[in-house]
Amino acid sequence: MKEYCTEAIVLDKEDLRELDSRVFFYTKGLGKVVGKATSARKITSKLNAHLEPLNLVQLRLIHKNNFQIIDALTIDRFSALRHPDRLPQILNLLTFMKEMTFEEQSDHELWSAFKEILYSENITYRPLLRSLGFDPQFALCDTCQEKPHYFIAQDFSFCCQKCLTEASNNKVCLKSYIPLS
Ligand SMILES: [Zn+2]
Repeated sequence: MKEYCTEAIVLDKEDLRELDSRVFFYTKGLGKVVGKATSARKITSKLNAHLEPLNLVQLRLIHKNNFQIIDALTIDRFSALRHPDRLPQILNLLTFMKEMTFEEQSDHELWSAFKEILYSENITYRPLLRSLGFDPQFALCDTCQEKPHYFIAQDFSFCCQKCLTEASNNKVCLKSYIPLS
């Protein structure tokens, strides 16, 4: 049994059986981590409020077959980003981080970029894509080789506005299109 203590940003929380939750984090020390919280949904659970998506927390975990959340303490909850107008954009960002990263592969550059975006309150994917090895700076639209406006998370390609419009006519899932500006 090993204990870990690291800063983490809560990406997602899923309810499990009874009162347990499964929580997805992007952490400074371990990269993406999926931790189980036992009885976290109890109304009396102190932990529950700290495990809300978007919270930056000081996280304590133990690893025994899987990760169990021992403690989480909120450092910042980024209240300004929780405005209803901004929430869809934030949820997309959290989903992006959940889907584009690997468990237990720490990446300090990606961690810093992610944290900096939240503190700057300016949602841009460019530094994240750069850290993940998909630098948009020299990328071209996969279809027409022009300057791209979107990153397509489904197949890690780039797409311009014109080709996106054409693709939308073919009912492509728009949610996985990441705006570059
Ligand atoms: Zn194009």
